Amino acid sequence: MIAATPLPRQTSGWQRELAEAISDPAELAAELGLPAEWATAAAPAAALFGLRVPRSFVARMRHGDPDDPLLRQVLPVSAELAESPGFVADPLEEARARRAPGLLQKYRGRALLIATGACAVHCRYCFRREFPYGEQQGETGRWTEAIAALAADPGISELILSGGDPFSLTNARLESLTRALADIPHLRQLRVHTRQPVVLPSRVDAGLLAWLRSLPWRTTVVLHVNHARELDTTAGDAITALRSTGVLLLNQTVLLKGVNDDAATLAELSRSLHFAGVLPYYLHLPDRVRGTAHFEVSEARGRQLVDALARELPGYLVPRLVREVPGEDAKVVLAAGLIPAGR
Ligand code: SF4
Repeated sequence: MIAATPLPRQTSGWQRELAEAISDPAELAAELGLPAEWATAAAPAAALFGLRVPRSFVARMRHGDPDDPLLRQVLPVSAELAESPGFVADPLEEARARRAPGLLQKYRGRALLIATGACAVHCRYCFRREFPYGEQQGETGRWTEAIAALAADPGISELILSGGDPFSLTNARLESLTRALADIPHLRQLRVHTRQPVVLPSRVDAGLLAWLRSLPWRTTVVLHVNHARELDTTAGDAITALRSTGVLLLNQTVLLKGVNDDAATLAELSRSLHFAGVLPYYLHLPDRVRGTAHFEVSEARGRQLVDALARELPGYLVPRLVREVPGEDAKVVLAAGLIPAGR
């Protein structure tokens, strides 16, 4: 389960904002001018996987609109309680990929460090919503085993910091982690998967930028943006600041029913990402995690959407439609451009 982030004794702006994130459905309903019954209906799902959303992200939602695409991503709903065949706790079979506490390896040449279980926002469709962070997470001291496993395997040249959201760690924790990794000679690339520059733009502070500039590796930051309306001015400024450090910025989007499953919405997202200086990279079919069947979009619909994007946008703005299939050597690419007639 995604972990709650305790507020450190000395807090900076983003940590205060994180501590003040909305976690009570009734408060979210009141903030958005939604009927109180909505909060009552949200409570059972919120008890299983807590609501968490920063106030600055709530400010980008439309007042009084229960179908707002940003709200739908964080909204606990009773559909999450329904059992659906094929939707399970660990759809990607990550338990089998464990190399050391907090270290997963799914694909050749790269490994993934579960740097933290904490996130600034709780996305209802999260494929790790039932992840056993308590057992797997590389917390202080426990990174030692993960780092030792990395150091012992010269076949791993890229490390992916994941979670949770790695930017939930303080700058000091990030620095101490990468100081330890810097001694591994075969590590050449670092990748960070994060949603925080968009959902909590204040996280991109001077210390984080200095940390990124100091890294000895070719570094890629993969953002997670699902809708153009997430990219307000503050998120745009945070992305500009990230770009100034020289990292490569990519985006992955999860294709979600009722959020972004139409061609116009996805085209606008690609254009907005490009405007911000981020390349659309992957469009993921949602993973079949328990409680998320109401977000599912079919493979056929995903292909249609990518085909429509390819007819509308230059190729570099068309994300690849992918699905993660346990046991495969890489993500399975289902569409990456125009689909020839007859297929
Ligand atoms: S930010 Fe990522 S890891 Fe965290 S809840 Fe959202 S999808 Fe899951």
